[in-house]
Amino acid sequence: MRRATSSCSQGEASGAVRCQRLTAIGSSVGGRWVLIGVIRFGKKVREYIGTVFTRLLPFRLFQPRLPGFASQCAVCRSWPARQLCQPCLARFAPVQRRCASCALALPADLSMGLRTDPGLCAACVRQRSPLDHALAAVPYAYPWSTLIAGYKFGEQPGWAAFFAALLLKTPGVLQAFSDLQANDWIVPVPLSAERLQTRGFNQAWELASALARQSRTAAQADAQLLLRIKHTRPQSQLKREARLANVKGAFLVDPLRVAELDGRRVVLVDDVMTSGASLFTAAEALRAAGAAHVTAVILARTAAT
Ligand SMILES: [Zn+2]
Ligand SMILES: [Zn+2]
Repeated sequence: MRRATSSCSQGEASGAVRCQRLTAIGSSVGGRWVLIGVIRFGKKVREYIGTVFTRLLPFRLFQPRLPGFASQCAVCRSWPARQLCQPCLARFAPVQRRCASCALALPADLSMGLRTDPGLCAACVRQRSPLDHALAAVPYAYPWSTLIAGYKFGEQPGWAAFFAALLLKTPGVLQAFSDLQANDWIVPVPLSAERLQTRGFNQAWELASALARQSRTAAQADAQLLLRIKHTRPQSQLKREARLANVKGAFLVDPLRVAELDGRRVVLVDDVMTSGASLFTAAEALRAAGAAHVTAVILARTAAT
């Protein structure tokens, strides 16, 4: 570049063309270096951003996303997405036919609309559960088991709003909340005082209050109506047969508020249903206090064993 400029200043006639050519080459070479510099700088910036995100990924998995802001899908990492992208929702939260009494997934209905009875699983055909109706959004399997664990044990209550929105898109759930009158109740499955102290929040209550808010139901969510009077071992540590015995007598409606349940409809909310022991026992306590109708709304339901 310097050589080309000094040549031009000499003003030689024969050098005019050569001068222009050298200037063009000089500009071209200089431009190329500038371009290479920009590309390299851009690459460094991309690498830095990539490193920062990679280091943050383990934490980002369980981070709640702010509503209204595009983010990265918690499952496939695609951009932009809210908590989960549409393809992941379509893949992992398909609409599933479920038992009306215990929300167990049923095989696809091949009756071509000829059936008039509500779909029931084999166990509920023999004996209905204490629930009048049971609704669940997703199977308790990957990725929901991981996301719910993060919500529950990773101190991420912010996921409740997303889970509530997912539940309200499940057929029948919005109707269950619309059916409630002003004197009816939305009740979370309560935690014992000991577990509440350890965990810091009741995941079922966060879900219940988000459902009440988003559904715009006339009823109120109340975490003090149904009490857990017995601290029990975590159901997940017990075999199926032992679970019912574990929660027997664990729930009681506040004796001072029994009249508030008399003849009322209740939506009972929980995050996960496995054997159903907790929900069934809680529903029995609500019925014993005079509740006329109990619908269970559950985020995730295990498959049949
Ligand atoms: Zn995704
Ligand atoms: Zn059933």
